[in-house]
Amino acid sequence: MREFVESIQKTYPKNSIVGMNSDDVVLVFTENVSFEEHKAFKEKAVATLREEDLPRFPINFAIYRNIDKDLSIEKICHNAKLALEGLRFNPDAMIGEFDEKFRERLELQEEMKDGFERAVADKEFRVYYQPKHDVATGKVGGAEALIRWIHPERGFMSPGAFIPFFETNGYICRVDLFVIETACQDIRRWLDEGRNIVPVSMNISQVDFDQAGLVETITEIVDRNRVPHELVHFEITESFNATDKVKKKNAVEEFKKNGFMIELDDFGSGYSTLNTLGQLPIDIIKVDMDLIRNMFDPKHQVILKGALYTASQLEVEVVAEGVETVEMVEAMKEMRPENTRLLLQGYYYSKPLPVAEFEAYMENN
Ligand code: C2E
Ligand code: MG
Ligand code: MG
Repeated sequence: MREFVESIQKTYPKNSIVGMNSDDVVLVFTENVSFEEHKAFKEKAVATLREEDLPRFPINFAIYRNIDKDLSIEKICHNAKLALEGLRFNPDAMIGEFDEKFRERLELQEEMKDGFERAVADKEFRVYYQPKHDVATGKVGGAEALIRWIHPERGFMSPGAFIPFFETNGYICRVDLFVIETACQDIRRWLDEGRNIVPVSMNISQVDFDQAGLVETITEIVDRNRVPHELVHFEITESFNATDKVKKKNAVEEFKKNGFMIELDDFGSGYSTLNTLGQLPIDIIKVDMDLIRNMFDPKHQVILKGALYTASQLEVEVVAEGVETVEMVEAMKEMRPENTRLLLQGYYYSKPLPVAEFEAYMENN
């Protein structure tokens, strides 16, 4: 450990102070150096460890600038550690930084955590529906249920602002069950009112698959609302590691056995979606918005056509997300392989709508 600290000492400017406050935290007090310089120091420190043949463990790195002199060392270390945890939100970053922006994000997260129960009780969470149109008929052939948070102070919050955080603290499971419950209640009411009905897709987060009894819990919600299973689809994403994969495969197969359709969300955006397609019983692939957005770029078009061809060979349906213009609609129509059902979802047709507006939309489409 001593050698390790000394080796770090060597990489920093002479007037820096290097010490250790626990067996895994090295503190470096140094004059105000730039982010780029810190990066260079980090690289040098790693290289030195390698050269001197010291044990190689992963080094994570957090910067806390302009330290408030009244803070205790413990508090300073704590804040630096928070900055490190923040790296999880931005895997491309090599160094965590506790700065104003980071402090604001932490505050927002604290606020979201504290406000969660209130949000549930006061019905601040709403379920919006975005229609999916069948290109063959032009009619609505499905819809996706998407969560919204109407925050009393912050106003309309899009899921991008809170879902990634709720995936780190487990609240996402409650959000997803809430969306499923609400959507099932809506479908039940639509059935009772004799409205036009299409299958509704509900998102299941990767994190949900860690829950024991997930399939039973969800199936119970659907059955309690007396919703026919063929009206419920689940959108899933690919798995990150092997243990996930086994759990998820079992759950997805159970969902299938119970008569629900499975959609593979964000297809073409990850590392192994082709693999996922081979491993799980997928009924529908949802082509990622990025591929659709770039469909007029020749390279992307080749990939998009490849995805459509794969779908047609596997006899699965396709949903294209993020269709915004008539040119995109026309191009997708052209590209659709014969015998492959293709639905389009995007602002060209409609944004996600509050339930009453979605009901009106269904009347007119
Ligand atoms: P997603 O499941 O891929 O949902 C599609 C997203 O694309 C939605 O964003 C939708 O509003 C947006 N979108 C649809 N058409 C267009 C278009 O033409 N142009 C553009 N630019 N965007 C379009 P949203 O509602 O903000 O949701 C973002 C993501 O948050 C979702 O991506 C999903 O991953 C997650 N999410 C939303 N609701 C839930 C939920 O209830 N549970 C879980 N686990 N995740 C959710
Ligand atoms: Mg989705
Ligand atoms: Mg998607």
